[in-house]
Amino acid sequence: MNELLAAYRYTSNNHAQIEASKVCGCCNCVEIFRPDEIVGWTGLTVQDMDDPKAIGRQTAMCPRCGSEAVLGDGCGFPINAGFLARMNEAWFQRTMIHRPAPKKS
Ligand SMILES: [Zn+2]
Repeated sequence: MNELLAAYRYTSNNHAQIEASKVCGCCNCVEIFRPDEIVGWTGLTVQDMDDPKAIGRQTAMCPRCGSEAVLGDGCGFPINAGFLARMNEAWFQRTMIHRPAPKKS
């Protein structure tokens, strides 16, 4: 599988993987930060707030730009400016796959 495609899967439902990472990066703003800088997560509902499995499936939000496009090195891909730039190009500038633009708030 294309490594950019493979890595992209790790940008959602990635709480457990990010907990196991030392460094994280955002494919949208191409910033690199520590996992403990992430304060926003999506995917929990009132019903499964106390369910450890549901917590592990949460999706990280970038502490810099708020995108759900965070990768941790725990997924096995290199988190560096070059790799994030390639991810950004492929996914956000749509050079590889068409994807609806994220909603701006
Ligand atoms: Zn970002």
